[in-house]
Amino acid sequence: MTFGDTLARVPEILEVESYRQLADRVVGATIVRGWADGYLAKKLTSPAAWARSVKNLTITGTDRRGKLLLLETNGPTLGVRFGMTGVLLLDGDAGIEGLFYGPHDFQSKWLRGGVEFDDGRKLLVHDPRRMARFEIDPDLSELGPDALRLTRKQFDRFVRVERGDGPAIKARLLDQSRVAGVGNLLADEMLFRASLDPRTPTGLLSGDEKDRLFKAFRSTMSSLGKRGGSHLGDHMDSRFPGGLCSRDGGAMVIATIGGRTTYWCSTHQG
Ligand SMILES: [Zn+2]
Repeated sequence: MTFGDTLARVPEILEVESYRQLADRVVGATIVRGWADGYLAKKLTSPAAWARSVKNLTITGTDRRGKLLLLETNGPTLGVRFGMTGVLLLDGDAGIEGLFYGPHDFQSKWLRGGVEFDDGRKLLVHDPRRMARFEIDPDLSELGPDALRLTRKQFDRFVRVERGDGPAIKARLLDQSRVAGVGNLLADEMLFRASLDPRTPTGLLSGDEKDRLFKAFRSTMSSLGKRGGSHLGDHMDSRFPGGLCSRDGGAMVIATIGGRTTYWCSTHQG
């Protein structure tokens, strides 16, 4: 087990999209019972508030904004955030099987809450590190457009800087109010593909660099979605101290940017 493998457990947007597809199977079902422990219910008034609010709701659809899963109902919208280790289970079926390999094995004590439907099925949240949260009618106003559906027009707004040079492009990519759903590994992969130094101030990106980044943004989301996760990017084989770029053999650089450990190639991203 390497450090890189451990990072792969963090549910990023592609993993949450797979949870959304799993949750699609309960559209039409009615909740007969809900429960949550104090961690899952931390953003609510109490665990009892979750049980009370969800009882008798029928799921009418699913949606997602960035890493926030949304269950639409005939009443309030239910939100689920997965934190660092959260996994959605439908009767034991995980959205992402790979999340259960390694250190995050399944343990029933890590089932922190969920709902039971009128047909007997259960939708559960498994979360060893207790950072997953339930929400009722979550506030979406602080989230930017969804990263999986980002249009060129939205991208152009995303890279716009009002004053000065703006933040490093890596930090802007991680800013959920600008675009929702880009986590650390996805941001590094996009910059790797776009041949951009992650420290480049957003406001100083040239037209050509913006074109490359938009192309890399879209290709990262679509190809990693097909490969099966945010941890399957082209730069991942080089993502360790002393690593060499898988593309050109250049030395990989490590620094903290936007509060997160960032890897980039000193040669083609220089
Ligand atoms: Zn390189």
